[in-house]
Amino acid sequence: MIKIKYYDNEKKIFKDEYVLKLSDFETGVVFQKLKSHYKFQQFLKFRNGGGGRCRTWEIIIPHGTSLGLLAHEIAHAVQIKKGKQPNQKWHTKKHTSIMKRILKIANNKKDEWISNAEIQVDKKHGVIMRQEQKQREFEQYKKTPQFKLENISKSIKRWESKKKRAENVLRKLNRRKKIWEKKVRPN
Ligand SMILES: [Zn+2]
Repeated sequence: MIKIKYYDNEKKIFKDEYVLKLSDFETGVVFQKLKSHYKFQQFLKFRNGGGGRCRTWEIIIPHGTSLGLLAHEIAHAVQIKKGKQPNQKWHTKKHTSIMKRILKIANNKKDEWISNAEIQVDKKHGVIMRQEQKQREFEQYKKTPQFKLENISKSIKRWESKKKRAENVLRKLNRRKKIWEKKVRPN
């Protein structure tokens, strides 16, 4: 929700931030960090084109948004969090001052946030690649004679231990059988 006059003015105040475009990944990172900083509840949703929008449960932002527009909508979420009433206006001096604070934090921290997030993604990607590599190696190994031999050997071991258990049980049963035969036929 943006009134044209207010928005024009805002674009002048935060000129650099409205010029600075973010990738969706960067938008997501900055959004999450500011969300945990201000503890608002909105989720982030992207759309193709159009402006931004803040509802009580979501913030909608166009793909490849600017930092300025992102901060504009987040400032609304902060207004809601701070108890803005439905009859109070959205685009006020208060909104501008919240936006100023948001952008001060974002300008200071965003590069660090984004590069840390990129490192995390690379790490996760590396782990997945290694897992996939291991899985591929195992699939190859399953086709080799060694694997077949190993499997058969394991199977033999399992059956031999079953056989041993069965022999033990039979020995005990035979002992008991003799005892009871004596009781039935004492001589
Ligand atoms: Zn607005």
